Amino acid sequence: FLRRLQILRIVHSIEEERTRKSKADLKRLFSLAKDETWLCVGGLLALVASCVSQVVAPYFFGKVIDSAMDSMDALDKMILILFGIYVGGAVCSFIRAYVFVLAGHRLVARLRKRLFGNIVRQEIAFFDENRTGELTNRLSSDTQMIQNALTVNLSMLLRYTIQIIGSIVLMFVVSPALTGVLLASIPVVAIGAVLYGEFMKRLRKNFQDELAAVGVTAEETISSIRTVRTFCSERKSEDFYCKGINQSYQIGKRLALAEGSFNGLVLTISQGAVVLVLWYGAKLVYDGRHNKPGISFGTLASFMVYSMNVAMAFGMLAALYGDFMQAVGASIRIFELLDRKPMIPCSGGNRLPFLDGRLEFQKVSFTYPTKQESQVLKEVTFTVSPGNMVALVGPSGGGKSTIVSLIERFYDPDSGRILLGGCDLQTLDPQWFRQKISVVSQEPTLFATSIKENITYGREANMEEVIDAAKKANAHDFIMSFENGYNTVVGERGIRLSGGQKQRIAIARALIMDPALLLLDEATSALDAESEHLVKEAIDRVMQERTVLVIAHRLSTVRNASKVIVVEKGRIVECGTHKELLEKGGIYKKLVLRQLTAGSADFGGD
Ligand code: ADP
Repeated sequence: FLRRLQILRIVHSIEEERTRKSKADLKRLFSLAKDETWLCVGGLLALVASCVSQVVAPYFFGKVIDSAMDSMDALDKMILILFGIYVGGAVCSFIRAYVFVLAGHRLVARLRKRLFGNIVRQEIAFFDENRTGELTNRLSSDTQMIQNALTVNLSMLLRYTIQIIGSIVLMFVVSPALTGVLLASIPVVAIGAVLYGEFMKRLRKNFQDELAAVGVTAEETISSIRTVRTFCSERKSEDFYCKGINQSYQIGKRLALAEGSFNGLVLTISQGAVVLVLWYGAKLVYDGRHNKPGISFGTLASFMVYSMNVAMAFGMLAALYGDFMQAVGASIRIFELLDRKPMIPCSGGNRLPFLDGRLEFQKVSFTYPTKQESQVLKEVTFTVSPGNMVALVGPSGGGKSTIVSLIERFYDPDSGRILLGGCDLQTLDPQWFRQKISVVSQEPTLFATSIKENITYGREANMEEVIDAAKKANAHDFIMSFENGYNTVVGERGIRLSGGQKQRIAIARALIMDPALLLLDEATSALDAESEHLVKEAIDRVMQERTVLVIAHRLSTVRNASKVIVVEKGRIVECGTHKELLEKGGIYKKLVLRQLTAGSADFGGD
């Protein structure tokens, strides 16, 4: 018995927690519209005025008919009044619709901006976990739901509430006894509506989650359409997409059924109440006609019209409540995203007066948050002195790129320290030190804007600086060969650049930052001979008199390096100059020999 009591208590507290949370969600949803308060108040006034015009118009309609019996003057006057009421009502309707829809757009625009701002500030590990399609879907579809709920539905909600309150007040005037009977049925509808709302909220959240998951498939397929085409896997992606859509459709079916049944239920209850009122009212009329206290026919008739109105408004209101709760469901994830604090902030921390590019790894161990089962770096220790070029080599998957990611502080190490300019990276302002580090990766990403804007992506620069950087990066000549020169738009709907050209623009982009530390991932293959030569030349030029950490693939690079670090399975297995390591005759020598015999450009031993 005690155990059962305990379970009951737990269930009760879970229920309580749920109600509390649901209230908090709803409150939060409304608080989103705080900046639109005055717009909503204006819309509300217009709404009340249009309701009033609807209520009084029939009264003057009757007056017009009556005045036709008296004189033409009276008729003209009444017609003018009626016309004025209709025009006034129409203007108020316009204001109401305009103001509420406008408030909705304002709200959703602000919400999207805030959400986007918070998403892009999350740490990189967040993007390993949450896929692009899912996040973009949250930005577009979930926010749309909130817009609908808070504007169109809100205005209808208010309209019906006013209608109900107004009617009930008038009903009390007509007959308090009958009003009591009608009001008794309200709690039943209200409880039903609350339960239904909770149910819809959860179902809608599942639906939106499912839709977001499908968004991932669509985004991946469309963005990698070339790979899809190469492997003729259109059918496969389509099947995958259809499967996801079918799953969301299944939830959609349940949503539809729930909505339908609820509407039916509300109608049954509210019309049942009307029948009850009719029975009780008729009994009162009967009593009145038999010398007992009762009511007249006329009173019952007008009361019935009111109760029908109230019943109809209640039905609408309950359905709207369901819509609202659906929006609350959709908003749960939005709030989670809005509230999420990045594990690694984008800014804040110390700035040094001067950065010499000195880099130290002290017993750094690291595991990717999304891949907890395997440690990627194990107690990695090394130093890059200012002005030196240090090369990282080793088999692919060994952890070289991870080292570069840690220097950019995309992730924090599990243990150990990374020092930049003698200071722990975690104490430095990321916004500051990231400006001092430039990265050139194997496959650089360029944005779909002009070449000039791509080169100045990291900082503002004048045309002279841009041309200077481009010349150093061996990019000036090919840029000038385009008709629009530096204003040529690249990428989507622009000029397609070759791998080598992209890389040279990326080098120019890095150079313009005049970095204290340059992180370089040498391109391996995929470049034509001419391009390869120009890229190599640019890279060699860039590396002079700079602190550089390079993931090396070329023999000439490692020969020039002041230190070569061999990384294998997350550990530093050898370290020294090219000459020292060759003499040692270990893994490094094997890698060099393999490259010499294979004649390939790839030093990684892949
Ligand atoms: P390298 O640059 O030497 O080829 P990486 O640093 O790219 O090696 O990879 C080291 C290991 O970390 C690999 O096993 C790889 O699968 C894993 N890895 C790389 N990036 C991620 C990531 N974003 N999330 C999870 N695991 C990753």
